[in-house]
Amino acid sequence: MENRPALTLTQPSDPATQARAAELRAGINRANVMYYAHDEPELSDAAYDALMQELRLLEEQHPDLVTEDSPTQRVGTEMITEFASSRHRVPMLSLDNAFGEQDLRDWEDRNRRTLGAGEDLAFEYLCELKIDGSAVSLTYENGRFVSGGTRGNGEVGEDITHNLRTIAALPKQLQSGEISRELPSLIEVRGEVFLSHKEFARINGEAEEKGGRIFANCRNAAAGSLRQKDPTETASRRLDIFLYAVGACEGYAFESQEDLLKTYRAWGLRTNPNIRLCAGIEEVIAYCNEWGVKKGDLPYDTDGVVVKVNSYSLQRELGAVSRSPRWAIAFKYPAMQVRTKVENIGVNVGRTGAITPVAFLTPVAVAGVIVSKATLHNETEVKRKDVRIGDTVVVQRAGEVIPEVVEVVLSERTGNEIEFVMPTHCPSCNTEIVRTEGEAIVRCPNFDCPRKVQTRLEHFVSRGAMDIEGLGEKQIASLIEAGLVKDAADLYSLFPEQLLPLERMGEKLAAKILANIDKSKTRPLPNFLFALGMRHVGDGSSEVLASHFGSLEAIRQASVEELAGVHEIGKITAIGIAEFFADERNQSLVNRLLEKEVKPTEEDAAPRTDEFKGKTFVFTGTLVRMKREDAERTVKQRGGRASGSVSKQTSFVVAGENAGSKLTKAQELGVPVLTEDEFIEMV
Ligand code: NAD
Repeated sequence: MENRPALTLTQPSDPATQARAAELRAGINRANVMYYAHDEPELSDAAYDALMQELRLLEEQHPDLVTEDSPTQRVGTEMITEFASSRHRVPMLSLDNAFGEQDLRDWEDRNRRTLGAGEDLAFEYLCELKIDGSAVSLTYENGRFVSGGTRGNGEVGEDITHNLRTIAALPKQLQSGEISRELPSLIEVRGEVFLSHKEFARINGEAEEKGGRIFANCRNAAAGSLRQKDPTETASRRLDIFLYAVGACEGYAFESQEDLLKTYRAWGLRTNPNIRLCAGIEEVIAYCNEWGVKKGDLPYDTDGVVVKVNSYSLQRELGAVSRSPRWAIAFKYPAMQVRTKVENIGVNVGRTGAITPVAFLTPVAVAGVIVSKATLHNETEVKRKDVRIGDTVVVQRAGEVIPEVVEVVLSERTGNEIEFVMPTHCPSCNTEIVRTEGEAIVRCPNFDCPRKVQTRLEHFVSRGAMDIEGLGEKQIASLIEAGLVKDAADLYSLFPEQLLPLERMGEKLAAKILANIDKSKTRPLPNFLFALGMRHVGDGSSEVLASHFGSLEAIRQASVEELAGVHEIGKITAIGIAEFFADERNQSLVNRLLEKEVKPTEEDAAPRTDEFKGKTFVFTGTLVRMKREDAERTVKQRGGRASGSVSKQTSFVVAGENAGSKLTKAQELGVPVLTEDEFIEMV
């Protein structure tokens, strides 16, 4: 802490201080439960850190206040969990924080004193980005991934092995070889599971639609996704992982943090590339400042830099205090949060008709960007946060991108604030809004609602979809207004004379736009699927669908069960797709697009032989020699189908390691079971 006193005079506590300490402990403990056990923080991180700093200072001044169960002495919180517990062989600690340059210098001085060394001891540090995700420990025995758990209270976490297996970047088998040297007989590999900004936006976007639970940030979303009861749900979240630490380790010795990271990489464990070996604390400070600027360009969240003494022998000498090692420190960047006023609350009508509340704010700069609007996600969220018109609120750019209201500053309330009332009619077409059963979100049911038509078209032409350059929000609005376009298929009937009367349109521009429209006719199938704007189908699931089914026709014909059976496509997405194609208006749109010669390219996914025609394969358990996606692709390229569920119709079940209920079901139904080796031989 910048404001940490150099010398703290200690004295026994008085009753008022004792009461304050108890209040702080209770507040922090409650925040910990909400944050760690429910992944649903009630406080902003800045507010939490302030409580923690106050308690630390009180305990420093009055050591008699330190209790064994004080949150300053413990990591995380006890889990309220349905998972089995997973005991760490070596405890998983937290990190002490540095909130400024001086804290880093003080930390170096403290370490010198602990080692009884003078100024001449030159520390070498390994700087890493602090990944803002959820800490996990993975146990490998003789190179094979056997189990994994969350950090929990540091001693005992939750056993989330099945969910961890769904992470594509997590190797189920470590690679040994000349460069990668021998493998330990047992190792607890530690690191951070995280979500990219893109995935975070997708998950919250879907939750927003359903009126479901909104995650406050990437970190809570990663933790929540890891603790899903259904591993297929975790798989659909596309989590990623970086590994950076070790717990227990038998049969291998690392010399330094640098050595550990290099070795991990050679074993096939994913490590973050943005590391730097620094000679002395000033080089560390330069690294922190450099990444303070560059971190905004990363596709995932970092909330700081972790500085580690590089040498393992020095690390051992320095040791640890109750909840953190002395040899590492987390340099934290100031939170990207600012205060502003809610001038009004309005609603936005989305592509699917979802009506979402939006806060209109007094414009304010958040992390270098002027923010004047922030999403309030849905009605439930407005109620939960109790945001009112006139309130002073804390705004942040979550995942560094989407501005959102974190909390209301209740102390600023005057009593004149106005509660938000959800409109009963669509602000665009005045149709009565409906609420679908089981969903908290309300929707405009009018298919032809001008706002929906506009946003559907904006999505259709956007990058990643049909990518039609030159057609922006304004041009689309003019085309709709002129009555030239009602849906995407109409775009392909336009001719130059129709475009010319539009505002700021010349012959050259009109010709260019039409050429771009024409060019979009042969976009790859995933782009086309994404462009259709089916509910819950993002660019990632479009890729999965295209590569699994191979053709638009196959997707159109697929049943909910078949769709849900695809690895990475959950039930909700499957229903969204089936509902889309069950609607005659969508069917007619797709048919008209095909008539206009919009022919998405399907070659990548198309079967090359019909060796497996009519055959359905189900892969279960962990495949060691090939990735599951590759195995499934192999089946499809031979004209077969890969499914996620076993039935009498299944031709073969390929059982990898630790196969569970699907294997049992195959045996019960008498479906032939192949080992991975037998399958590879077959293909
Ligand atoms: P932390 O997040 O401050 O730092 C420790 C963690 O950093 C490690 O456990 C590890 O998971 C992670 N980490 C990421 N990259 C790393 C790397 N390269 N090397 C080593 N470790 C790395 O500590 P914490 O104990 O996990 O959480 C405390 C923080 O969580 C608080 O400061 C606060 O910001 C937040 N919190 C907020 C609330 C709330 O209500 N808002 C409640 C509890 C905690």
